[in-house]
Amino acid sequence: MYFFICSASYSGSTILDITLGGHDDIVSLGEFSFFNKAIALNQRCSCGTNVVECEQWKVLIEIIKQRYDSDLLAKPYDLIQWDTMAGHVIDANYQTPKYLLEKRFRSFLCDIKYSFKKNSLLDIPLPELLQSGVQNAINLYDLVLEQLDKKHIIDSSKNIHKAVSIYEQQPSKVKIIYLIRDGRGVVNSFLSKGRPRKKSFSAWKKYNLRALKLFKKRVPEDALHIVRYEDFVENTAACVKNICSFLDVEFHPEMLDISRGKRHLVNGNQTMYNRGKGLVADTKWLTELKPADEHYFYKKCGRLNQELGYMPRHL
Ligand SMILES: [Zn+2]
Repeated sequence: MYFFICSASYSGSTILDITLGGHDDIVSLGEFSFFNKAIALNQRCSCGTNVVECEQWKVLIEIIKQRYDSDLLAKPYDLIQWDTMAGHVIDANYQTPKYLLEKRFRSFLCDIKYSFKKNSLLDIPLPELLQSGVQNAINLYDLVLEQLDKKHIIDSSKNIHKAVSIYEQQPSKVKIIYLIRDGRGVVNSFLSKGRPRKKSFSAWKKYNLRALKLFKKRVPEDALHIVRYEDFVENTAACVKNICSFLDVEFHPEMLDISRGKRHLVNGNQTMYNRGKGLVADTKWLTELKPADEHYFYKKCGRLNQELGYMPRHL
């Protein structure tokens, strides 16, 4: 099975990916859409070794070469799965202004396609690059499962269009976890990284509006499970049990110890290198978020935050 974690940035997708990857049948891939960039820039895998030297990926890159005649070391952007936009570590040779413009257009077409019901007039074909991306992703997932002798992968690339497209290609094999978090916590994380206020708010809002709209149109309830970040970090055992039941895998209490075992996530936040710290709930916004920012948030995003189940507090 292919499990996807879809969430806005700073909503806890990496830590959830790592936790579920503690199950013996599940492989954590991290933000796997960035696999090609990780090879191109030889970024550090979560195991601590650079991707092209990592014990897991090194072997898989060699098998990909034999199986698909794609030498990813020579041409890292062969077999791309989906459009990506890196925010921190950027491959400027790949992520050019032209690429970003084309990516935006493809994303626009996906928004049209998935805003309507399947087989309706505006259910336009996926752009060609993304059609082949769906197949590439499935081929890579299957190869990983076969080589590591596992049953399920988790891809926390977060891209809603990618998750929906792969769901529609293989509906019986896909389950999507939609991870939500109080927008004030997300915005506080953005602001603490020095991001501009307007951009911080709009990224969270745009992501969740798209998720609510597209999942409702194209993903049935039995393939979609909503998880609140706050439940995950505060009542982890109960929350992970529920997720396991949705994924139809057995819950093992050892999964809650995220420092156990090796993981080879190719992209994610710093948490993937610091598993030894365990699961730490980030509730800093409760004391750090300035009243002016919280008021601004409520003006711009209050309705959506309430729709997601988060109520305003009296300041
Ligand atoms: Zn590794």
